[in-house]
Amino acid sequence: MQQQCPVHTQESVNATPQVESDNRPAIDYGGYFEDALNQLKGEGRYRTFKQLERKVGAFPIARDVERNRDVVIWCSNDYLGMGQHQSVLNAMHHALDDLGAGAGGTRNISGNHSVIVDLERELASLHHKDGALVFVCGYVANETTLNTLLSMLPGCVVFSDEKNHASMIQGIRNSRVKKQIFRHNDLAHLEELLKEEPLDTPKLIAFESVYSMDGDIAPIKEVCELAKKYNALTYLDEVHAVGMYGDHGAGVAERDQVMDKVDIIQGTFAKAYGVMGGYIAASREIIDVVRSYASGFIFTTALPPVLAAGALSSVRHLRQSQYERDQQQANVAYLKTRLREEGIPILDSVSHIIPVMVGDPALCKQASDLLLSEHYIYVQPINYPTVPKGGERLRVTPTPLHTREMQDALVAGLKDVFTRLNIRYASACPA
Ligand code: PLP
Repeated sequence: MQQQCPVHTQESVNATPQVESDNRPAIDYGGYFEDALNQLKGEGRYRTFKQLERKVGAFPIARDVERNRDVVIWCSNDYLGMGQHQSVLNAMHHALDDLGAGAGGTRNISGNHSVIVDLERELASLHHKDGALVFVCGYVANETTLNTLLSMLPGCVVFSDEKNHASMIQGIRNSRVKKQIFRHNDLAHLEELLKEEPLDTPKLIAFESVYSMDGDIAPIKEVCELAKKYNALTYLDEVHAVGMYGDHGAGVAERDQVMDKVDIIQGTFAKAYGVMGGYIAASREIIDVVRSYASGFIFTTALPPVLAAGALSSVRHLRQSQYERDQQQANVAYLKTRLREEGIPILDSVSHIIPVMVGDPALCKQASDLLLSEHYIYVQPINYPTVPKGGERLRVTPTPLHTREMQDALVAGLKDVFTRLNIRYASACPA
């Protein structure tokens, strides 16, 4: 969701006429920014970051720098611990030693190194598409691809799931095409909106596979069927799924055997692949048009070889290894069962994401702080506007490397803080 800054009316600007010593009217730039920050603070939305130091070989343990002690991380998006996998580290060391630190330019200005070309081939093959294109991050991949494609199609209408990520929303907004927001994962509503447009109007349906805050999964096959019926392209963000779903880690579309029905698959290397960078995989023309027109692809330095090498190694590893996926799913199943047994209110997610519902912003922050200070467990509080008011939660993401002892300690820690803070248990929690 977009962060809103306070609006300064002309009246409020005029209300305090001040002049500099040389008679220029004073403009209180700092004051405007302070006002914006104070608004966030007043609404309890001001973000502070914990300083945590990850240590190779210790995942999911990290150092809480402020308290100078080790804590167990329970909210990492390095979902499979690949950020410390030996094959990924080796590939990155080699790339750094052989090819240096940076890419040296945009893809057009000598930055088109061989590792990034190999990576794009690997991704195209992973997703069974003609081609792939790598971006500096998943946010830019979404923003610039959607903006470019939508702007290019005459009279295009975009259909966007109401829970889509900020990067998709921004790309859609920047394209200025007509947009229709459909209720989350609601096929009937999507069809109702699709029906309103003539069949010969270009259309694109933008949605995600795994939604990161609720952990629910889109009906990809059915969305693609609607897309076919109403002549629409499909754009699927698999950021929270690649590496983890499907026999080769290509995502939920692979698991559901519908990869060929999705026109554009978007992903990141920053979550289950443990590195950084984003990508799309699609048909030859789509890849070529984004490569040729997208500002966020053309006018920025290429992903450096060291990151591309790490990503390539991670993608290749998870293409052939099922071990991490199996172990993660086993841990997710165990933890969900244990949390339910203890009455801890969790959303009924069908993915690896377990939202523990608190339902109050202040309590959510206190629960997170208590878990850290007294149980040496870190799960960050998730408050409005990331989730709706009343939907405040702790978002737990078990990895293959969390041990049974760590999981039991998390359950005990949650029980303790829920009791001490008088947070409602499962019976009173909305499903
Ligand atoms: N899409 C979704 C659904 C996300 O949750 C995120 C990031 O958190 C992104 C895209 C952006 O990916 P990246 O972190 O690689 O920029």
